[in-house]
Amino acid sequence: MDIPGKKTGIEPVRLGLDSKFKFKCHKDIKCFTKCCKGISITLTPYDIIRLKNRLDLSSEEFLAIYTEPHILEKTDLPVVTLKLIDDESSDSDKKACPFVREDGCMIYEDRPTTCRYYPLGVATLSHKEGSDGEGFYFFVNEPHCLGFEEDKEWTVKKWRKDQGVDIHDDINAQWTDLVVRKRSFPPNIKLTDQAKQMFFMVSYNIDKFRQFVFESSFLKRFDIDDKTLKKIKNDEIELLQFGVNWLKGILFKQTDPQQQASAARPEAEKNE
Ligand code: SF4
Ligand code: SF4
Repeated sequence: MDIPGKKTGIEPVRLGLDSKFKFKCHKDIKCFTKCCKGISITLTPYDIIRLKNRLDLSSEEFLAIYTEPHILEKTDLPVVTLKLIDDESSDSDKKACPFVREDGCMIYEDRPTTCRYYPLGVATLSHKEGSDGEGFYFFVNEPHCLGFEEDKEWTVKKWRKDQGVDIHDDINAQWTDLVVRKRSFPPNIKLTDQAKQMFFMVSYNIDKFRQFVFESSFLKRFDIDDKTLKKIKNDEIELLQFGVNWLKGILFKQTDPQQQASAARPEAEKNE
């Protein structure tokens, strides 16, 4: 599974954190912004939080305007990609990212994880209990990208840090783990529609999930300590992490006490 990925011309060279490559992207390069057209960008939960806040939209509004729903291969889980639009700056029939302008990305500081990784892609091989899972990196070697002809040297590790991918990956780690774990399920084990809706709400519609926690019977059904409540009320990232832990409990009946530390625990389960 690629999380996330631009889907064209993937070169199967397996890279590790210390792998070296030469690359530089800048405004004077001939291919400037070509990589923002004809692409598929799967969005992560943290991408949505950054983007909707940047654009001063609710998560519901952001989803409606800027995303398209998909089912993630081999997982049967609903995910979203950036909705591309007609490219008025060219005759090509390729569609373009809604945020690309002649002078570059208009939301650059809040660009999605995929754009930060580019020209690298990241793949997560398998879920392993008690670890972060094993991942590897590869070049998204698209013929139009001339950045590889430039002379600046990087390691994968340095690139990730420079592009701020580390922060995105840390925040998305639990969610990625959940998705990878779902992929390892035998294909005949299906999630209910309700479970998929819950996955979608927690992953992408954080404002709706907040309402679900604080304005439904959720707090009557689940016993959540005051410290956690305070944290998730005032901090979207805490709310997201709480939601992902809660989802794990629902989707996988997870009982690991560490995972449950700040998560909801049904009263009935506590009284057993
Ligand atoms: S978000 Fe920015 S960097 Fe990413 S494809 Fe769109 S314009 Fe390009
Ligand atoms: S195609 Fe490559 S070098 Fe050109 S703008 Fe995109 S990332 Fe930079």
